[in-house]
Amino acid sequence: MTAARSSGDPVVILGAGYAGIAVWHEVHRRGRGRIPCVLVDRHPTHFFQTELYKLDQIAGSDAPARWGAPLREFLEGHEQVLRTGTVEKIDLESRIVSLDSGPLPYSQLMICLGSVPAYYGVPGAEANCRLVYGWEAARLLALDLRSAFELAARSSGSPLKIVVIGGGSTGTEVAAEIASADWSAALGLRVPDPDVTLVVGALPLLAGLPEGLVTHARRLLRRARVRLNEGNNVQRVDPRQLTLQDGTSLSFDVAVWAAGVRAPEVVRTVAAEHGSAGRLKVTENLEVVDRPGVFAIGDVAEFRDRSTGLVVPATAQAAMAEAPVATRNLLARRRGTPLRSFVYRERGSIVEIGPGAAAGAIRHVTIWGRPAALLKSLVEEGHRRSTGHGGRPPGL
Ligand SMILES: Cc1cc2nc3c(=O)[nH]c(=O)nc-3n(C[C@H](O)[C@H](O)[C@H](O)COP(=O)(O)OP(=O)(O)OC[C@H]3O[C@@H](n4cnc5c(N)ncnc54)[C@H](O)[C@@H]3O)c2cc1C
Repeated sequence: MTAARSSGDPVVILGAGYAGIAVWHEVHRRGRGRIPCVLVDRHPTHFFQTELYKLDQIAGSDAPARWGAPLREFLEGHEQVLRTGTVEKIDLESRIVSLDSGPLPYSQLMICLGSVPAYYGVPGAEANCRLVYGWEAARLLALDLRSAFELAARSSGSPLKIVVIGGGSTGTEVAAEIASADWSAALGLRVPDPDVTLVVGALPLLAGLPEGLVTHARRLLRRARVRLNEGNNVQRVDPRQLTLQDGTSLSFDVAVWAAGVRAPEVVRTVAAEHGSAGRLKVTENLEVVDRPGVFAIGDVAEFRDRSTGLVVPATAQAAMAEAPVATRNLLARRRGTPLRSFVYRERGSIVEIGPGAAAGAIRHVTIWGRPAALLKSLVEEGHRRSTGHGGRPPGL
């Protein structure tokens, strides 16, 4: 078992995504800048992952500046805390994180390394599908769509066949955006409307989200001319064709895999208790089970609410809600004061269904259409602004 150190080595935050930057802000605020702290990420940029379904905009202008904020700007005046590098190993016994640039000892650790796509062993899925998880992946998908549209415009003019696999929020947003974006305007040439199918899989569409939201989402998907294929998981993906469990097949020009996420490999190999998809199990204090002084939040963690028995969803909203409590508890361990339990209160969910339309539920009230889309864009804008010049991430 690991004991928390109170001095010497720094507090180390792994990952500068939604969870990591919120933790850095809290450590800095609560410690009044006096707690030695290192923030590690493989990129020098915090990417706005929640906006990466806007593929037409990425295809039209793939300048990374629109899709992320330089971490040096966010850390303004504290740039020395940033280590750009890849985490290769986390050793909780010796309390050393191995980066590609060398070892980094820590006194206390906050693991916020996000997630990677889960392929569930489906043959050909990784090789034949594009992704929206992460900036580079979304950019490659946008460039593929751009080339495919350009080819379609030059050749017969027959519509592009796009399949999006995964009927959660990410897949739904991606399918609707591709189907209803103004690609001709984005690419500066006249292109035929695409033929988009959302392969929802065996789970219901937008499983876990409120019924009112799902009803409006279905209506908006119909309006966006997204075809729904429901009830069957994907069995295999070949180049330009996928096969479903019932034996039927769908041909495609571009396939997008948005069927779920799991913990990154470097987290799966951490010597600690793991939950589903390799996530680190955390206690009610957001501490890794049996590892005092080591915390995990965001997509990487499995937090089960004791009162409801439900696992907190892998969302930016949850990651940013966990950050203040996890940081408070990390500092409490340092000072030997009591830790506090985390209670998750969902603020609401909004799923964008094509530009300018969305379906949402805010505390049992269903909203849809333009007002819902406007609210979502205000939240995204708030986050974008907050990541400049040491601002406080507002929570999604
Ligand atoms: C298209 C899309 C739309 C979404 N929309 C919403 C939404 O509207 N609302 C919502 O709440 N959630 C949304 N999500 C989910 C949300 O993006 C994630 O839940 C959120 O990013 C999780 O935050 P995190 O800090 O745990 O991980 P991330 O934000 O993924 O951050 C992880 C960080 O760790 C770094 N990292 C990973 N591995 C390593 C390594 N080995 N070495 C160094 N650095 C590493 C990464 O570079 C990254 O900066 C969406 C996701 C997608 C893909």
